[in-house]
Amino acid sequence: MEKLFLIKYGELNTKKANIGLFLKTLQNNILNSLKDISVNVIFDKGRMYVKTSEDNFLNVKEKLQKVFGIHEIAIGYELENNSMELITDSLIELLKNKEFKTFKINTKRSDKNYFLTSPEVNQKLGGVVLKNIHDVKVDVNNPEVLINVEIRKTNAYIYFETIKGLGGYPTSTLGKGMLMLSGGIDSPVAGFLAMKRGVKLECIYFDSPPHTSVEAKNKVITLANIIGEYQGHIKIHVIPFTNLQETIYKEVPSEYMITIMRRMMYRISERLAHKNHCKIIINGESIGQVASQTLDSMSVINEVVKMPVIRPVACFDKLEIIDIAKKIKTYETSILPYQDCCTIFVPEHPVIYPTLDKCLEYEQNFDYESLINEAIKNEVIIKAQEKNDYSEYL
Ligand code: ATP
Ligand code: MG
Repeated sequence: MEKLFLIKYGELNTKKANIGLFLKTLQNNILNSLKDISVNVIFDKGRMYVKTSEDNFLNVKEKLQKVFGIHEIAIGYELENNSMELITDSLIELLKNKEFKTFKINTKRSDKNYFLTSPEVNQKLGGVVLKNIHDVKVDVNNPEVLINVEIRKTNAYIYFETIKGLGGYPTSTLGKGMLMLSGGIDSPVAGFLAMKRGVKLECIYFDSPPHTSVEAKNKVITLANIIGEYQGHIKIHVIPFTNLQETIYKEVPSEYMITIMRRMMYRISERLAHKNHCKIIINGESIGQVASQTLDSMSVINEVVKMPVIRPVACFDKLEIIDIAKKIKTYETSILPYQDCCTIFVPEHPVIYPTLDKCLEYEQNFDYESLINEAIKNEVIIKAQEKNDYSEYL
């Protein structure tokens, strides 16, 4: 009997036509996430199994819990054959170390030619448990221990404990997206949610030194690292934004500064997305959150790009977003008090109902095309990895 992880893919089973692509990506992602640990990964029809030594068990469990596309992870035992004798003996041996008063047996057969049906196996094993373990009884509604038995063609599995996986689609099944990543709470959550739908992320960050600090940039790198763990590694495009921002400050009436600045961010994001084969832009905008996220603002800002802009948290309350940020452990970093380029030039009365005519008029005031080209030319690419020392990037 060998201890192992059984991996179930849930929702992926509904992807009939493309199931091959989804599973291949999931396999690669699992192998990638476990590449530094000594494991044996077995791919079988409808299941994947991961075997490793006892010392690595916890580490592997944590890694698997960060792979999108895994619906459930069971910690189980593989038996060398599917004989009732071996199943019975193994089950009793495993139950001897468990404290419980009630149980239920749940058998599944993928081998439909097995000599007993699933209910017959349930009944037989139930009888054996009642006979061998003292003071326990069957409770089909709310058992303390659910004993799962899977009978396959050549062997069998027993497992008790299941852990919820992240679900969703394997990251990168659907191609790449460019995440506008600021140091705030919303954009890392937006990125996480897009990854969950199978999108692989690259990040873009608009950096305005000296108005924004090295700490603010460092914070974005830390956030990228945290969400990057769900896809192995992540690239951050740092765009020097100071010249554009200072020019906007000088040339644009203050109430339109943020609107015009965001139109510039969108233009640069789309160009960089094209250059890096990303099919969508993703950001952390949420309807009504600030002046630049009213419907009128979103409409005139969105107008400068053709690429779809996906806003995963558009309809979430801040508290709902914070809840996810805490779960994915970005929250603590996001609330560190370093200002980013949006907060530093905030006018007293930003326009809430901007018009396209005014945007076009104010953009005539300066040569934004050459400033955009210059910013893109001077981008710095950081490949974030799972490590805590970012000093080399500063
Ligand atoms: P967040 O939305 O990440 O919590 P925020 O609310 O302070 O931060 P907003 O000013 O509301 O940010 O900006 C909305 C979205 O625009 C952000 O979620 C992010 O996707 C993008 N964005 C803002 N500032 C930057 C920046 N400096 N670099 C890259 N993207 C940015
Ligand atoms: Mg926001």
